[in-house]
Amino acid sequence: MKNELTKKRFFTGLIAGIVMIALLAGLEIAEPKKATGQAAGTAAETTVSEGAPTAEAAATAAPAEPTNASVSADTEGTFTAGTYTGSANGFGGPVEVTLTVGDAGGITNAEITGSSETPDIGGKAIPTLAQQLLDAQSAEIDGVSGATFTSQAVRDAATQALGKASGMETMEAPKAEGDNLFIPGTYTGSSTGFGGEVDVTVTVSEKSIDDVQIEGSHETENIGTFAVEMLDDRILEAQSPNVDALTGATVTSNAIFRALNDALVAAGADLTKFPAAGEEEEGLKSYEELSTDIVIVGAGGAGMTAAIKATQAGKDVIIVEKMPYVGGNTTKATGGMNAAETHYQAEQGIEDTVEQFVEDTMKGGHDINDRSLVTVMAEYSAKAIDWLDSIGAPLPKVSFSGGATNRRIHAPEDGSGVGAYLVTAFRKNIDELGIKVMYETKATDIMTLDGAAVGIMAESKDTYYTIHAKAVILATGGFGNNEGMIVHYKPDLKGTVTTSAPGITGDGILMAEAVGADLVDIDQIQLHPTVEQGTSMLITESVRGDGAILVNQEGKRFTNELLTRDAVSAAELAQPGSYAYIIFDQKLRDGLKAIEKYVSTGITVQGDTIEDLAKQIDVDPATLADTLTKWNQYVADQKDPDFDRTTGMENDLSTAPYYAIKIAPGIHHTMGGVKINTSAEVIDINGNAIPGLFAAGEVTGGVHGGNRIGGNAVADIVVFGSIASESAVAYCDK
Ligand code: ADP
Repeated sequence: MKNELTKKRFFTGLIAGIVMIALLAGLEIAEPKKATGQAAGTAAETTVSEGAPTAEAAATAAPAEPTNASVSADTEGTFTAGTYTGSANGFGGPVEVTLTVGDAGGITNAEITGSSETPDIGGKAIPTLAQQLLDAQSAEIDGVSGATFTSQAVRDAATQALGKASGMETMEAPKAEGDNLFIPGTYTGSSTGFGGEVDVTVTVSEKSIDDVQIEGSHETENIGTFAVEMLDDRILEAQSPNVDALTGATVTSNAIFRALNDALVAAGADLTKFPAAGEEEEGLKSYEELSTDIVIVGAGGAGMTAAIKATQAGKDVIIVEKMPYVGGNTTKATGGMNAAETHYQAEQGIEDTVEQFVEDTMKGGHDINDRSLVTVMAEYSAKAIDWLDSIGAPLPKVSFSGGATNRRIHAPEDGSGVGAYLVTAFRKNIDELGIKVMYETKATDIMTLDGAAVGIMAESKDTYYTIHAKAVILATGGFGNNEGMIVHYKPDLKGTVTTSAPGITGDGILMAEAVGADLVDIDQIQLHPTVEQGTSMLITESVRGDGAILVNQEGKRFTNELLTRDAVSAAELAQPGSYAYIIFDQKLRDGLKAIEKYVSTGITVQGDTIEDLAKQIDVDPATLADTLTKWNQYVADQKDPDFDRTTGMENDLSTAPYYAIKIAPGIHHTMGGVKINTSAEVIDINGNAIPGLFAAGEVTGGVHGGNRIGGNAVADIVVFGSIASESAVAYCDK
């Protein structure tokens, strides 16, 4: 304990010393950071790489005209003349800042390179940031709205460079002695992840890492938070900072690694002494045979629903999940769950019918949906809402969403994203019921005997499994993240950003096909109209449902924003540049928790007035102001003469500040898949049910037809997850 306190005091003293020297040197430091750098990584918390970061983004700013800025040819300052470079991680990789200090001690030139920044966002911001450094004569710059990661990287890199210009680079952390790896004690490092600060505290003795604690409560729920939960054990087990990032949570993983490295360096470690990640030899795999009543492939919403219900019905269940965590695409569902004739609707005086739900779904799906499946989904939906109540996952907030005639989409009370909310509740139930989930285990084949499914083959890093089961439920999700399959079925979509989770690669469809299953609507792939392209983050439909509008680069509306996804996507693709901005105000932000994530990720642009917002997104201020004035009048009149929008018009957009997010369509849902009947039995190419084989969720086709309406993915997974479970349980009892 004494040791720990001593270390902490030493580092607090060191940081205070640095700040003191910096202040004496006239260097403005916003806060004494323990670690430098910003979120790095290849992309947001998805496998999709940032939109083609190819162009070299670089800028140099020098004070050519000393008239409009407080910069003279060599502003008086207290840095030592010379050229100094610092670097930090931006959105896509390292950002380097090189500052030249003139003879009078002022910054005379600022050069920034960041070849991996998103060209449209970070890359575009770089010249402005270089000018800001010159104007501020310090690292404390305002940054560029919408390019948060790049701006922070520039601040950090400039702080480093100016630290050198003030002679602070000579300060070094102490080194462990002799053969020792560390100086025993407890050390903390911090860095910035996807949503905010990530801290890593390590306790080390001379030759080992004894404890790792990771704090990162602002990371994306059930994505980044899995990295926070899991990497501590992996680091401890590896006794090294060089472990693999958690697939799908790269930004958070990298923040953890940076914070960890800083903590270990403070502990006297030489980071080059640790073996690189993934270096251990792969040995021969072992083989294991298991038996259960029902084996479920995939721990997304459908798989977990099925598992919980089957366990509640007294069956022994095993779930195999190829990722190190549960959730799949379900985690990413942001809107809610459609359901008709629910007790929440009744309590809130909302009139709606199962028949209307069916008609809306059929219409949204261009009438190619399987009406019998749609009818079952609508009929079962209120019961599914009751079941969610019973497992501690109520969805009481009912509102409008695209394609629905009535208020039908059910969401969590606090406005949080429905997917992460349900995944948390499902996980809790799975833990409480003691259901066996085999993580990082990929199902490869369905085993059949006399035409009936009798189990699966699966494999993990070190083991091949044969899992015998009386029934098999496929809940592997769609194929939105399998570019090969996407291009095979829809060549036009080559290179389109996807919102799908990393594990969503169509495995279940391929496995089912291999045992004779029929496929339906397999080329029906949905684009979601509001996807931020740099991060492939989906902007929930609720933003439009709660009143947001879409404008093009001219600042004009171009569609009824609450038409079905395919219609809105098509309207966007027809605009100049094939993108748009979603515009909303502070009141809307206050009512929708999901928006906080967009703000903390840095994808929103904020303006104190509409004109201010317009300037920042390069839209003509008068046009945007006119669009907003007109829209607010339409809301007051409850009539939209331009595009006949009739829903999501409860609130106007008149509460400053105002916000914009640049968006374009992204691959969102693969509507087609394995053919099932209303009992969730998989149907073969001859039209017969394959005994013992059931499927539910995005792996199946038919429910959504040619276009899925918002709120029906969750309805699909909960309803058909339940039905697959009930059918599998009944099949086991035969
Ligand atoms: P749904 O919404 O239909 O429930 P999700 O996308 O939420 O589907 O979840 C599907 C889950 O299936 C994901 O967690 C994914 O990692 C998992 N999965 C996909 N293919 C396999 C496979 N071959 N073996 C095990 N798990 C798989």
